[in-house]
Amino acid sequence: MSVVLSPEQREIVATVREFVEREIIPVAPRLEHDDIFPDEIVERMKQLGFFGFAIPERYGGAGLDYVTYALVVEEISRGWMSVSGILNTHFIVAYLLATVGTEEQRRRFLPPMATGAIRAGFSMSEPGCGSDVQAVQTRARRDGDAYVIDGTKMWATNGERAQLVATLVRTDPDPAARHRGLSCILCEKGPGFRAGRAIEKLGYKGVETTELVFEGNRQPVANLLGGTEGQGFPQMMAAIEVGRINVAARGVGVARAAFEHAIRYAQERQTFGQPIAQHQAIQFKLADMATKIEAARLLTLRAAEQKDRGERADVEAGMAKLFATEACHEVVLEAMRIFGGYGYSKEYPVERLYRDAPLLLIGEGTNEIQRLVIARGLLQRYAI
Ligand SMILES: Cc1cc2nc3c(=O)[nH]c(=O)nc-3n(C[C@H](O)[C@H](O)[C@H](O)COP(=O)(O)OP(=O)(O)OC[C@H]3O[C@@H](n4cnc5c(N)ncnc54)[C@H](O)[C@@H]3O)c2cc1C
Repeated sequence: MSVVLSPEQREIVATVREFVEREIIPVAPRLEHDDIFPDEIVERMKQLGFFGFAIPERYGGAGLDYVTYALVVEEISRGWMSVSGILNTHFIVAYLLATVGTEEQRRRFLPPMATGAIRAGFSMSEPGCGSDVQAVQTRARRDGDAYVIDGTKMWATNGERAQLVATLVRTDPDPAARHRGLSCILCEKGPGFRAGRAIEKLGYKGVETTELVFEGNRQPVANLLGGTEGQGFPQMMAAIEVGRINVAARGVGVARAAFEHAIRYAQERQTFGQPIAQHQAIQFKLADMATKIEAARLLTLRAAEQKDRGERADVEAGMAKLFATEACHEVVLEAMRIFGGYGYSKEYPVERLYRDAPLLLIGEGTNEIQRLVIARGLLQRYAI
């Protein structure tokens, strides 16, 4: 693969970096500590066209490739990871629409999504199922020209503010159907469909994560993604690769923030008559941190490039997600060690990065599940 960026890609990344420096980094600590949704940042992102980044041009978006998208997510997460979470579910749904939506669904939803007038969420998880996606119980029954939906979803990022949620539901109750009984319905908020309780979290603050409650909610049959029942599982599995690229890129961004704070601090903080950066033990930490970040970025861009070619990227996105998020977790801990006691203080940003990083080990499929996905793919490729 090549990591040589075109002038256009470089310009987009530079514009986002400037936006992050100017409009996210100065306000993130206060909003994060007070758990406040970043309304002004979201408004500015709408004006600047961020919500249209990965939406095809013919539906009003910028049609960015996933390599550029990954670099943009890295920049945003370097400023504040929660802001990249606002974009993540939106682009998973945009991907679903662009790849398997009917033309009518694309025309209806993608243009308002490109401006951010409609924000989208993505919901597979339930109180009783996360890793085992095929255990989804939320039930959709056909009634004339509508589906009637009952059940509770869990952990919906953007659950309160998303007006449209791509929701995995069970259309065939036959227990033998397992994944073939699942469909994805583009659920619009309305009577019988609301956000339930918001979940209080260790980190990833500011952006809401909620239950979703369906009580006899009616969605038109025209909202069945792609128009065919029983396709929900493969549709969601292909789309979650976009989410895994986002999470891997977040890992790179959060780790980079931790590294940048640590290398600056290491040159300022004196012990035993010299900056701690002069102690070899600290230099080794910095060297390992930077090496892991570079490797994580390369894996992330490799997975993004594969997705750009329109290919399944389960193994590559899984490897990128696994490596980048484990690296991120290790790097933020090393940054905290370099900061010593001050790393544990809310006056410095490292404690926030330390609280944000563990989500990445879990979200978009835990790293145990990534290992299963990678191994399954490898065994298929190397089958004898
Ligand atoms: C802040 C946050 C935001 C989220 N946002 C969304 C969202 O927007 N939409 C959405 O659909 N979901 C979302 N999720 C849910 C997330 O995808 C799940 O939490 C995740 O997939 C794990 O599922 P679980 O929590 O049910 O854990 P479980 O599946 O119960 O797993 C528990 C443990 O068992 C391990 N395990 C499970 N099965 C196996 C196996 N076969 N082999 C080895 N180990 C195994 C897991 O790795 C984990 O360590 C979010 C989660 C969080 C925390």
